[in-house]
Amino acid sequence: MTDRTAFVTGASRGIGLACAKALAAAGARVVLAARDASRLEEAAREIPGATWVELDLASPQSIKDAFAKAGKIDILVNNAAITKDGLALRMKKDDWDAVIATNLTGAFLAIQQVLPGMMKERWGRIVNISSVVGEAGNPGQSNYVASKAGLIGLTKSIAQEMASRNITANAVAPGFIETDMTAVLSDELKTAMLARVPLKRLGKPEDVAAAVRFLASEEAGYITGHVLDVNGGMYM
Ligand code: NAP
Repeated sequence: MTDRTAFVTGASRGIGLACAKALAAAGARVVLAARDASRLEEAAREIPGATWVELDLASPQSIKDAFAKAGKIDILVNNAAITKDGLALRMKKDDWDAVIATNLTGAFLAIQQVLPGMMKERWGRIVNISSVVGEAGNPGQSNYVASKAGLIGLTKSIAQEMASRNITANAVAPGFIETDMTAVLSDELKTAMLARVPLKRLGKPEDVAAAVRFLASEEAGYITGHVLDVNGGMYM
C-alpha cells in the first residue's frame, strides 16, 4: 500500500485504531479522524507517519473541513459509530436521529468527499464497518441496527455506481469485539453473547483490522459489494 493514503474515521481507539495500525503496517500513510483531539494525538504517536484531523460525523461542515485538510484519499474506512440503545416503543426521536446522522449519513457524506479524487485516479477502496446486528437485527438497538443495515445497502449501491472507475466498496460486519463499545455491557449479557459464538471467544480489534486491510489492498481488486463477516461464526 505504499503511495496510498488511508483515512480512518473513529481511529482514536478500538477497531478504528487497529485498522489504522494495520494499514500503516501495510505501507499506507494514515489519517486518523475522530472528535477528541487529545486522544487522536496520542493515537497518532503510536503510528509512524500518521497524521490526524478533528472530525464530527454529525456535522456536514466538519466532514467537509476534515477532508479538505486531509487532501487526496485512496482508501476510506468508515468506522466511527455511536449507540443510543432503547426499545423502539419508547425511543426518543433525538436518539434515532443522532445514531442515523453519525453512523449512516456521516459515512455517506464522507464517501461523497473522497469519490471525486478516486474517480480521477481510477483507483479507490471504500470499506464500511457495519455489524452482525445489521444483518441479523437486535432488540433494543433499532436505530443502530437500521444504520448498520443501511450501510450495507449504501456499500452495494456505491459498489455498482463506481465499479467502472475501479473503485471498490465493501463492508465488514464484526460480531462481538472487545472495545470500549462493548466494555459497558453487563457480564450477564457478555456471557449470553459468548454462548452464541461457535469459536468461543470474543473478537479482537485486530481480527477486524485484518479483514479491512485485505479489502483495502491491491489483491482485493476483484471484490466489491461484499459483506465480510468477522464474527466467530455467530451469524452465518
Ligand atoms: P468505540 O471503541 O466506541 O470507538 C468509536 C470511535 O468512533 C472513537 O474513535 C470515537 O472517537 C469515534 N466517534 C464516535 N462518534 C464520532 C463522531 N460523531 N464523529 C467522528 N468520530 C466519532 O467503537 P468500536 O467498538 O471500536 O467500533 C468501531 C466500529 O465497529 C463501529 O462502527 C461499530 O459500530 C462497529 N462494531 C463494533 C462492534 C463491537 O463489538 N465493538 C461490533 C460490531 C460492529 P470520539 O469519541 O473522540 O469521536
